[in-house]
Amino acid sequence: MSRLKTKFSVSLTCLCLLLFSTAVTTKVEAATETKSVFQKARRQLPPDFYALYRIVDRIARANEYDTRPWQIVRVGQYDTQGFGKNPNTIAIFNGILEELGSDASALACMISHQMAHHRQRHQVVNAIEKAELIAQIREEAEKEVLGRKRKTSAFAAVGDFVVRRMIGGTIGAVVGGVLDSKSYTRIRKAQRQIDVIVEKKTAQLAENIKQQSRKDEFEADKVAYLASVKAGFDKEGCLRAMSILNRTPGVKFDDNHPTVNERITAIKAVMKKFQNQSLVEEGKQKLFQTQPLTYNFSANQTNLLINSRHGTSVGDDIDRMFGG
Ligand SMILES: [Zn+2]
Repeated sequence: MSRLKTKFSVSLTCLCLLLFSTAVTTKVEAATETKSVFQKARRQLPPDFYALYRIVDRIARANEYDTRPWQIVRVGQYDTQGFGKNPNTIAIFNGILEELGSDASALACMISHQMAHHRQRHQVVNAIEKAELIAQIREEAEKEVLGRKRKTSAFAAVGDFVVRRMIGGTIGAVVGGVLDSKSYTRIRKAQRQIDVIVEKKTAQLAENIKQQSRKDEFEADKVAYLASVKAGFDKEGCLRAMSILNRTPGVKFDDNHPTVNERITAIKAVMKKFQNQSLVEEGKQKLFQTQPLTYNFSANQTNLLINSRHGTSVGDDIDRMFGG
């Protein structure tokens, strides 16, 4: 019995050792494969794009942002709304790359910031859209004032077409012939009322855009900090990113953007609030369970497309799952 027990215990030990060694082999194989993908990328890509690829790959996999592709574009002009309207596009200003001084964690935080804007679905209101909104405000104001006035006899007599042309600023012979001076004064008064409404609502619109933009920036900084730490980058990287922004020529912020000092204070508050170690562990697990993302580099060497975890096509995804 005791011999049987020993035999059983020996075979159990063997089985455990076998399983353990298989797990170790698989782990080593995965690590070797990962390393060779990165070595290949280092040979294929220009140094800046290699760095950008590694950062996006790590942040995407560690935070499960890898279900969609990411596009990296180098740009010659800084834009606070650089993430723009194109889905999952990360715009990197050349001036920042020159100021970095090889600081991968600071760059990771800046990239993570743009990824956060996309992930949080922040909306950018550009100049054209703002002009459209103001035109809409004017139209509504005209409707409101003229709707009220139309009930009075003078406006009813003048008619919509003429009033609208006047309100729009075209006062020509056509109007002069139709209106008496009393009606003319009334329409002038209506025009002033419309201008007051438009001015008030336009100021309110600008304030709303400003508040939303500030809120989005603070949120993007917070999410960027957490995502870059999860991806294993230095937690101080976001603070250093702020001082790089401060000293890079060509980087300008408008009134809709919080100041760098306000952002530093907010980032420090986030750093205090969240436990780094658990974030790092969580990210490590995700990185360990996933494969490096593939990429496509544009022929003119300006765009790098980093594919999602499914590759570039369904065929790729099948090869990834079952072998090619
Ligand atoms: Zn931003």
